[in-house]
Amino acid sequence: MKIGVLAIQGDFAEHTSMLKRLGVETAEVRLPAHLEGLEGLIMPGGESTTIGKLAVDFGLMEPLREFARSHATWGTCAGAILLSKDARREQPLLGLMDITVQRNAFGRQVDSFEADLDIKALKDVSGSKKPYHAIFIRAPIIESVQGDAKVLTTLKDGRIVAAKQGGMLATSFHPELTQDTRFHEYFLAMVNKK
Ligand code: GLN
Repeated sequence: MKIGVLAIQGDFAEHTSMLKRLGVETAEVRLPAHLEGLEGLIMPGGESTTIGKLAVDFGLMEPLREFARSHATWGTCAGAILLSKDARREQPLLGLMDITVQRNAFGRQVDSFEADLDIKALKDVSGSKKPYHAIFIRAPIIESVQGDAKVLTTLKDGRIVAAKQGGMLATSFHPELTQDTRFHEYFLAMVNKK
């Protein structure tokens, strides 16, 4: 199995190391041709406006849309914003997931935080009942899900921080910055189902 990581800005290296730990072959995606032969794609955290603008410049927007329609695709943080249909402001978006996001919903960099989440889907793949410790860095909130998009988990106050729609996955937080491989394993299970 070969999984691509969008590598134009942000913490793509951390996703690559996590995938390598799980014994998966990886490829950095910077140009449309790099999508060839991949079975899934991760879009990392970073700055969604920068990633979007560079993706436009590199002619990646339409190839990414086409790829995500037929292959498992996961966006973490800025990557989740890119996947969304609506980020409540003008910026290049792939517009594939029926979710509305609010960027920087928890405030500035200093307001970054960690929280334990209860994620049933992860328990199903790993068999472990441990809560999932999630890291939020200038994170977006998924304000609402529409259409076929489903809520995967929320904070204790009910705010949505992960959603899934068919083969697409969006998380507000950063599983690649932890030692816990369960979220990546969950994504690999999605890739195998496609
Ligand atoms: N605040 C960033 C944005 O709006 C996302 C932050 C992140 O990916 N950690 O794009």
